[in-house]
Amino acid sequence: MERSTIVRVHEGLHARPATRFVKLAKSFECEIDIIKDGKAVSAKSSVKLMLLGVKEGQEVTVRANGADAIEAVEALIAYLENPRAGLEDDDTPNADSAVAAVPQSAAPPPQAAPTSDAGLVGIAASEGVHVGPAFAHFPPEIRSDRRTLAAHEIEPELTKFQAAIAAVRTRMDKALADETLAGGDRGIVAALRDIAGDDTLVGDTVAMIREGTDAVAATIAVSSRLAEEFGAVEDPYLNARADDMQAVGRQICLALLGQDDVSLEQIPQGAVLIADDIGAWDLARAPLKRIGAIVCGHGGATSHIAIIARSHGIPAVLGLGERVAELRSAKVVAVNGNSGAIIADPDAGARADYEKRMGEAKAERDALTIFRDAVPKLANGTVIEVAANLGSLEEIEAAKEAGAMGVGLFRTELLFMRHMHLPSEDMQAETYGALAKAFAPYPVIVRTLDIGGDKPIAGIEFPEEENPFLGWRGIRMCLDRPDIFKQQLRALLRAAVHGNVKVMLPMVSDLDEVRRTRVLIEECKAELKQQGIAFGEFALGVMIETPAAVLIAPALAREAAFFSIGTNDLTQYVMSADRLNPTVAKLNDVANPAVMAAIEMTAKAGVEAGIMVGMCGEAAGRPDLIPAFIRMGLTELSMSPASVPRAKKVVVELGKAG
Ligand code: PEP
Ligand code: MG
Repeated sequence: MERSTIVRVHEGLHARPATRFVKLAKSFECEIDIIKDGKAVSAKSSVKLMLLGVKEGQEVTVRANGADAIEAVEALIAYLENPRAGLEDDDTPNADSAVAAVPQSAAPPPQAAPTSDAGLVGIAASEGVHVGPAFAHFPPEIRSDRRTLAAHEIEPELTKFQAAIAAVRTRMDKALADETLAGGDRGIVAALRDIAGDDTLVGDTVAMIREGTDAVAATIAVSSRLAEEFGAVEDPYLNARADDMQAVGRQICLALLGQDDVSLEQIPQGAVLIADDIGAWDLARAPLKRIGAIVCGHGGATSHIAIIARSHGIPAVLGLGERVAELRSAKVVAVNGNSGAIIADPDAGARADYEKRMGEAKAERDALTIFRDAVPKLANGTVIEVAANLGSLEEIEAAKEAGAMGVGLFRTELLFMRHMHLPSEDMQAETYGALAKAFAPYPVIVRTLDIGGDKPIAGIEFPEEENPFLGWRGIRMCLDRPDIFKQQLRALLRAAVHGNVKVMLPMVSDLDEVRRTRVLIEECKAELKQQGIAFGEFALGVMIETPAAVLIAPALAREAAFFSIGTNDLTQYVMSADRLNPTVAKLNDVANPAVMAAIEMTAKAGVEAGIMVGMCGEAAGRPDLIPAFIRMGLTELSMSPASVPRAKKVVVELGKAG
């Protein structure tokens, strides 16, 4: 029994839909294959299915053999043909890629430091300085002297292997049951647990053992082969699963050998973690609160470890390459996350210098706490709203602790990038609603999806672009994909019931983009009303981050409820200097008169139209520029939570000075 169809699952058979498809296939007794371009794989292995790389719009055949073959083919074809199947899924993160599930922070990465032969210099990936005891984490490679089993050894070896799989899964289940495990970390562990039970990984290893290979050698061979296959696929999400395969293979081998992995759990308070690389499994369990700084051979400013380090305020220097091995025997390490410099066993003078700087940074943080609850007011009584830029609900606490007066930018793309599938409307409504509740009565400004070819996400097919920053991103992509955009707008309307939700559009360069969005919002409202679903109203604002938006600001001000100036992009577009390219970093300067003039033009247009003008680019937190922005008429400044107290202090002092 076989049938062919065109796949209508949005994301194609990526992680989540693949897992659902496999679950469905496994509910039938018969043997089932899925065939694409003449290649057939078992429909009961999500690993095999993902490697087949089935995308939306491609033709596949489902072939089944056995008693319930007809029902199986019908059910599986129905799943493939239901275009909403991937979206209606629940949002438990059990099939997310371990790597993609890592919490993200979109703060622009600090500049890469040049490498130097003199001292150890890597990429300055997370700012701050730290000196502390070294904690070298170089887990030994697991090797196996491949052993050929005698016939009588095979059954006991299979039993040992099954016990090892069970032990790994139990350990992961236990980790999942730990309520202190953060959402993103839970996704990592759940993804690894799924892999540990996959038919291909387990089945192929069992087959090798049956042929006489010992369990450790067989596990290494199969997990390495699968990792290689995932690494070779032209798809960043599937590439990320290569790491997952290796991590799970390693855990199974350790269980077989009765060994425990070198654990990060013992890291002492304030230690400098030194590693060649830190894998997904380690990251999920690392006690980040105790880590003073991170130094890695691998990784760059935009790697996951850099993102995690920045969001937890841990200084980090990455990309040291093989030279990281020079730190293996160091007792104490000094790390400069601003310059990328590393000193192994610093002398007393250098150590004292680092300790002084750490002390100063702490003293500054402590001194600023008195501004936490201050109301930043100008002499004329105008309150300047000092808000926070967030990318996930996990950051709410840090923002509130810092004294943020609401959220000036909620980057929703992180919600999309975290998962290997498009987040459902319900999940989005819940997230935006929770954000609004947490900050009410302060406003939370949610930015609609700002994604482009430079940051691909599962479920959206991006064209190859020569210049992704000038391409199909932000509002341009959303208006071309009303299916995705309307889902987000509906979720935002639903969330507006729970607090003070405002919405803003990224990358606007044409008036029509705002008008077309309004039409979609009206459509969404009509649909929700008809469906009897509760919703509220939200103010619609525009991000000013393209020169075109600045030049038409007076007209945009008549269409928008507020402006929020995105200086990160505005600077790169005004100066024609890529924000990620260190060689033009000098030009990428918000204080350049050209950029300041663009900000002033925007402010003038907004003030004249009587709408609020705010700023959510990194410049909003710069103490040296805040007075100028306020003089221009800005009344809202949104920044990373750590910058909030200092910005409040600047405004309070400005108000006192009159
Ligand atoms: C900006 O461009 O200034 C901005 C706030 O958005 P992002 O950094 O996410 O592009
Ligand atoms: Mg931007």
